[in-house]
Amino acid sequence: MKINRITEKDLPISSPGSNAVVNFKGLTTSVVMIESDIVRNGKALVGYGFGSIGRWGVGGLLRERFIPRLMAAPADTLLDDAGLIDPFRCWEVAMANEKPGGHGERAVALGALDMALWDLLAKAEDVPLWRLLANRFRNGVADERVEVYAAGGYYEESHSLQVLKDEMQRYCDLGYTSAKIKIGGAVLSEDMKRIEAAISVLGSPSALAVDANGRFDLKTALSYAEAIEPLKLRWYEEAGDPLDYRLQATLAEHTSTPLAGGENIFSSQDAKNLLRYAGMRPDRDILQFDCGLSYGLPDYLKTLSLMAEHGWSWRSVHPHGGHQMSLNLAAGLGLGGNESYPGVFQPLGGFADHIVIENGSVRLHDTPGIGFELKPKLWDWLRSL
Ligand SMILES: [Mg+2]
Repeated sequence: MKINRITEKDLPISSPGSNAVVNFKGLTTSVVMIESDIVRNGKALVGYGFGSIGRWGVGGLLRERFIPRLMAAPADTLLDDAGLIDPFRCWEVAMANEKPGGHGERAVALGALDMALWDLLAKAEDVPLWRLLANRFRNGVADERVEVYAAGGYYEESHSLQVLKDEMQRYCDLGYTSAKIKIGGAVLSEDMKRIEAAISVLGSPSALAVDANGRFDLKTALSYAEAIEPLKLRWYEEAGDPLDYRLQATLAEHTSTPLAGGENIFSSQDAKNLLRYAGMRPDRDILQFDCGLSYGLPDYLKTLSLMAEHGWSWRSVHPHGGHQMSLNLAAGLGLGGNESYPGVFQPLGGFADHIVIENGSVRLHDTPGIGFELKPKLWDWLRSL
């Protein structure tokens, strides 16, 4: 097996509304296509990947460093013992001469590249990626269904509670039983009305998570924690800056509400610091590392093994991003669930078009690879590359 060509392009993601920090107008992500020399049904076998959602395109890094390193490497140095593409060896080659630390945009570029490699490898083995992962890393055991929650509740210009309630109702009608809304883009009293409005549709506070997207200082984080404590919400996500571990640890000392974080932690080294210093509690808190933003699976697996060393179950992981790569990880590796964006971040949000959400969970596809082909709008978008 040989890589014939790697192409990349920044493509647009459309999403209305804002969170507490970011408006997504003009958002992009980097898409990578890896074409192999294997021919199936008269066509070259191709893998696709993208840099998850929310961090913009990183085409320069891919074009200038990572793709040239892979293309310059002798073909056999990128293969496993079976002669198939080896994402771990590719990772080592792509990361040659990169200094430690500074895990930012580089981690997103590797995330996109690595996703395409796994899509390609699973297609070469003619199995869905979740099956390949279960076989390699979990003695063949895979979850048949993955619990998913609808992430939305962004701030719209109208700030209408009815619009928010209608959105929550749409998620319920689609088969979701839990959802997440944004907080921190309004004052606390207004956010409490939003929370109550969402709960009135979902039916239970335990079906609702809230996300401040890192907006709060400690004082504000604590005031929200105090206000929502009696409600017993599902979780309180990213109260403060993602790298402010002391804020997170102080917050954990003052609330029994489950806390969530990790979508902006981009390496196993940073994950280690989060687990060591942020006071997060393995008995209730949620970790949301997104392999598409954090160097892809080779480093993600290091993070998962660190979690085990620190007393965490992999079931505490509900990856950020609502994409099919994380869905495959959740089923194949036995994570707790996966985010889903049924209404936002198109065409990436949502899963295979023909597989419906039932009672808050989704079953997996049975086609080779990650399953992008089962989402026609996404498939067209990928192929526009
Ligand atoms: Mg979030």
